[in-house]
Amino acid sequence: MRVTLWGTRGSYPSFPTHREVRAYAESVSSETIAYVRERFHSEGGLDELRELFRRSPEEIENELSISYPPIFGGETTCIEIETSEGNVIILDCGSGIRKCAAEILKRRSETKLNEISLFGSHAHLDHRSGLSFAGICFANPPFDIQVFGCSGFLKALDARFALFSHNASESTYSDDPIDYASMSASFRGIEICTTDKEEELVDAVPWEVRDIAEPIMIGSTAVQPFMSYHGLTECLGYRIEHGGKSFVFSTDHEKLSPEMISLSNLGSEEVEKSMRVDQELVEICQGADLAYFDGQYCREEYLGRQGIGSSPAVSRVGWGHGCVEDILDRVSQTEIKRALIGHHDPERSWSGLVEMAEQLQEFSAGKDFQVELARDGLTVNL
Ligand SMILES: [Zn+2]
Ligand SMILES: [Zn+2]
Repeated sequence: MRVTLWGTRGSYPSFPTHREVRAYAESVSSETIAYVRERFHSEGGLDELRELFRRSPEEIENELSISYPPIFGGETTCIEIETSEGNVIILDCGSGIRKCAAEILKRRSETKLNEISLFGSHAHLDHRSGLSFAGICFANPPFDIQVFGCSGFLKALDARFALFSHNASESTYSDDPIDYASMSASFRGIEICTTDKEEELVDAVPWEVRDIAEPIMIGSTAVQPFMSYHGLTECLGYRIEHGGKSFVFSTDHEKLSPEMISLSNLGSEEVEKSMRVDQELVEICQGADLAYFDGQYCREEYLGRQGIGSSPAVSRVGWGHGCVEDILDRVSQTEIKRALIGHHDPERSWSGLVEMAEQLQEFSAGKDFQVELARDGLTVNL
């Protein structure tokens, strides 16, 4: 299967600023000018320059040691999986789904794709804000899109687009003018139920209901949902198995510990729930070839001893997000081969992310697993 990350920012889309891009462009041009000037004034330098500029742009870049720093997300959460059978699974429809959909439509003449499976993690806006900007909703011929998610995710999509009930109300148009009838795609909702539901409640919703324990088959691909801990908001992760390879998608998950009680309004029950769910996540991750985790904060930021960008130092305990340090522990405890840390804080600068990526590279050196920062546009073939 091929896994492509289309959105890896947490909470709100955020890109390198014009100042950061400009500073990078200036450093490249001043190094290039220095290189040319030095040769211009040296004996034989002009011939050297003539010879250099006859080469390909790539060779010139190598000679001038121009490096392209990675650009980290970007858009909010969206990951695409294409299986060897040609099935397409999309995880979350944050702002990244716009570009994901554009790519799916570009490939459509070859793939002849008509069905898409969308799996949502939870109802928060950064995981569903992109749907009405996704070309797959308006394509001709239309797509059949089956939407899996917890009740909150399906409810949020239904409230905004009347996607499953086809029962639009005034509030449907409070964010934008689009509803299900403006879209060519047909949508089928499948709720992944995390609790025992009474039959009347199951009958009352405009979608199917299935148990979280049951794996979902998309062709020969098995998708196993699991719970994340995201405060009071119900949130799901997914382990995807295809062709003997596995990918764990775990976003918006916070690992609490008893010391956190004094730092927040959380009760001991919440802490116990988070610890239990985190232990389950460790088990789910065993032996995964690839995993994606929410590492929005470093421990010092999480505990409120350090700010992030222009965001002041406040305790972020109970905000539902993970720490990089916890991910490193988790990866060390499981046999994950490659872990990607995403849901980057919108306040984390480009240079901050580049620095973090270098630290992770050092951490991974010599180990039999690799931990790196997730970035928009990264594709991993499994
Ligand atoms: Zn989020
Ligand atoms: Zn969230």
